[in-house]
Amino acid sequence: MTKFRVTYATLSADNEDLHTAYEQGLAIAKDWLGADLTGFVGGKPLSGQETFTITSPGDAALTLCTVHSTTAAEVDAAVSTAADAVQAWSGRPWQERVDILMRAADLISERSNELAALMSMEVGKNRLEALGDVEESADLIRYYCKQYSDNDGFVRPMDQLSDAERTTSVLRPYGVWGVISPFNFPMALAAGPAGGALVAGNTVVLKPSPQGTFTAVKLYECLQDAGLPGEVMQLIPGGDEVGRALVKHPGVNGLTFTGSFAAGMEIYRSFPTPFPKPVVCEMGGKNPAIVSAKADLPTAIAGIARSAFGFSGQKCSACSRVYVERAVYDDFVAGLAVRAGELKVGDATARDVFVGPVVNDESVARFTDAVAHASSVGKVVAGGEVIEGRYVQPTVVTDLPAGDRLLTDELFVPFVAVQPVDSLDEALTLANATELGLTAGFFSADDAEVDYFLDRIEAGVVYVNRAAGATTGAWPGVQPFGGWKGSGSSGKAGGGLYYVQQFLREQSRTVVS
Ligand code: GLU
Repeated sequence: MTKFRVTYATLSADNEDLHTAYEQGLAIAKDWLGADLTGFVGGKPLSGQETFTITSPGDAALTLCTVHSTTAAEVDAAVSTAADAVQAWSGRPWQERVDILMRAADLISERSNELAALMSMEVGKNRLEALGDVEESADLIRYYCKQYSDNDGFVRPMDQLSDAERTTSVLRPYGVWGVISPFNFPMALAAGPAGGALVAGNTVVLKPSPQGTFTAVKLYECLQDAGLPGEVMQLIPGGDEVGRALVKHPGVNGLTFTGSFAAGMEIYRSFPTPFPKPVVCEMGGKNPAIVSAKADLPTAIAGIARSAFGFSGQKCSACSRVYVERAVYDDFVAGLAVRAGELKVGDATARDVFVGPVVNDESVARFTDAVAHASSVGKVVAGGEVIEGRYVQPTVVTDLPAGDRLLTDELFVPFVAVQPVDSLDEALTLANATELGLTAGFFSADDAEVDYFLDRIEAGVVYVNRAAGATTGAWPGVQPFGGWKGSGSSGKAGGGLYYVQQFLREQSRTVVS
């Protein structure tokens, strides 16, 4: 078996080879534009007549592709094809599934430059972050294969009550697994859940976000080219109606969803019928960072700027609230404002751009509304302008009244609120005063404070003193990713020790001989 490897370390902005390779990938991806895309059931293209086009978020004149939406009858066919394939796929030795998926991961890595460039054009993700998304996709798949191997296919002998009776615990797949993936990690959050479900022996029906469809088609191609049988994975592009048809379909045995809190809760409540069925939801975040008076400020500023403005704040993990002890508050605000102003905004495929466009006009409207509200009840200390179209400035606001909606509502734009606090206890109380609990960051050079923070913060993924991202950038096998409270269902959403088990149910097998 190919070795599991972590490739993230190679993604450095100063790596000339990386930029040359990305630019070559961009030329390849540009040749793909204008494609007429369909979904696939049983490995065969679908023929739905209704179409939608995907244009680039930063350039409405750049049409990337036309996509044929999946019809209700095709959703039905996708689920029944997947159901018919479960026995054969789950019946194969797990090593064969691992081999196919590891090959797919290697193909994703081989094609990473063109895939990343396509993603930059499709969702506006900058070079490094798009490459990160693609490499994360490959590493998520590799990590789930590793979990399967490390656990010997999840078959374990149990204790025996007598010599004649032998019991084995065997983890078995649920059957047909639906995956509804978001625009913001259009490859990783499709590849991860699909990879986890597939290695476990489930068959998959993937419904990508409309704005991530092109990338999802390319992911699908990697899996097919790796030898995944056509009937084992179906791709059903389309809008909410296609997602709803999948969620309501009685033939779907388990579901993974990444998206908003509201949509996730609707799925969480409605999917498990007529009996309980597993739902793995990754929902929103309103992620806090706390800066102690004992913090190294340049580290805090770098980490928080990355987390708040990376991919234009369009990550569930983005930092959107910062609580700073008064002794360092003014310096921190001034430093963050300077940093926000330094970040280059522009075409996501360009070399030095950090902040690409936001994904659509609703995001621009959310941004302008948030800025207007902040200006009326508080202060905008950096940014605040729409540069043009969907390009908006990284924005820092302060002096919001306690409990203001900008401190509680997820905005998904490059916008961060900073508030002073008198103590670490006050900061923790405010940080935890939300229904969400995905990620959180802390900056302090004091070990006792760090322990105090770690023992009290209510979040699933926490980081301390991290300039590379105060709350963002979890990597498979390094940071198990997934939220507490309203940010997710009970299990992790990816990359952790117990992820693959969510796609499996335990069967106790007692055989008397
Ligand atoms: N896993 C990503 C991170 O750690 C965030 C995923 C998301 O936004 O959904 O930054």
